[in-house]
Amino acid sequence: MADRPNVIVVGAGIIGASIAYHLAKTGARVTILEAGQPGGVATRNSWAWINASWGNPESYFRLRIRSMAEWRRLEREIQDLRMAWVGGLIWDIPPDELEAYAREHSSWGYGIRRVDRAEAGRIEPQLCHAPDFALHVAEEGSVEPLAAAQAFLAGAKALGATLVANRPVRSLVRRNGRVVGVETESGPIEADEIVVAAGAGTAKLVSSADGALPGDTPPRLLVASRPHAKLLSGLVMSPGLHVRQTTEGRLLAGADFGGSDPGADAEKVSLDLFEVMRGMFKDGAALEYSHHTVGYRPMPGDGFPIIGRLPKVDGLYIAVLHSGITLAPAVGLFAAEEVTKGTRSALLKPYGPERFVGPS
Ligand SMILES: Cc1cc2nc3c(=O)[nH]c(=O)nc-3n(C[C@H](O)[C@H](O)[C@H](O)COP(=O)(O)OP(=O)(O)OC[C@H]3O[C@@H](n4cnc5c(N)ncnc54)[C@H](O)[C@@H]3O)c2cc1C
Repeated sequence: MADRPNVIVVGAGIIGASIAYHLAKTGARVTILEAGQPGGVATRNSWAWINASWGNPESYFRLRIRSMAEWRRLEREIQDLRMAWVGGLIWDIPPDELEAYAREHSSWGYGIRRVDRAEAGRIEPQLCHAPDFALHVAEEGSVEPLAAAQAFLAGAKALGATLVANRPVRSLVRRNGRVVGVETESGPIEADEIVVAAGAGTAKLVSSADGALPGDTPPRLLVASRPHAKLLSGLVMSPGLHVRQTTEGRLLAGADFGGSDPGADAEKVSLDLFEVMRGMFKDGAALEYSHHTVGYRPMPGDGFPIIGRLPKVDGLYIAVLHSGITLAPAVGLFAAEEVTKGTRSALLKPYGPERFVGPS
């Protein structure tokens, strides 16, 4: 590998943006090719909860916790990330499951506090009905995802990276078993390494290099209010509705953080959801509907990230995942290290593409 390898990053959502920033920091010569406008498809429509919450094995928890720490580092390094470490209040699973989650994750070092109705009401005084039992995690937070992706891209450009918008990559160019470039409408572009971080477009591109990545990209809907005076102190994960207040004051909600199924009539789904959200707050009647969004959430076949090299295909690195907002900092850092130095973080061990396509 050259001292300053030439790397193409395909996709300028939060994952491509973070990888490009971290690659540029190593001194690599980086070109980011984006099919549309920088800022992603899933990314700009994300709920953007940063967490290491329930329902995951310990190895995944460790990766997420590390990424939360990397967000704190990035906050010091990069301007305008628009982060809010406001804490999360959760009671969207039955009390016995909440208790099991609290026991397990506390033993792993997650800062979970059990709260009763009075305490939940003190944390979120604007809720009509505080839960009898909930968990509060002060170290969780959120970020405005489009602003963060744009800030990573600005950081990469300040370090010499080139960003080309409206330049879809049609396929990968493969020669003698190695990916050597990409095909675009303006012709081929060659590089030492190609990183595909194209979200919902990743599987199609990888198939052009004879790789198959199982997964899905379901449409997921969120509803937003107009900016409103402060109603929430932190993130709220209640049964059937997850809500946070953005840094510009909008209440942003989905049936859960991953969004709702938009069904055949997304407008109606969003209006119904908005009414549920209104009913949640003492001052809910004052909330005004603004809009809904539909994002396509990259969901690998087994639900876990796919990060690394395809067996027997040199020159190609893949990064596709859900929970990409939580994980973007760690994925960016680790991918840049692996692409430029060949060293792979132990935290990525379970998440290589070889689990789907067999070892080299
Ligand atoms: C409703 C919703 C809620 C979510 N909530 C959370 C949450 O609370 N916490 C969390 O951590 N995660 C959450 N996620 C998931 C998270 O948003 C995604 O994992 C993350 O945004 C993925 O980023 P990405 O850069 O991989 O993909 P994207 O943001 O989709 O970016 C991929 C980019 O690649 C470009 N591209 C595609 N094909 C090509 C091509 N052929 N050539 C060039 N460019 C191409 C696209 O135009 C796009 O800009 C949520 C997602 C959704 C939709």
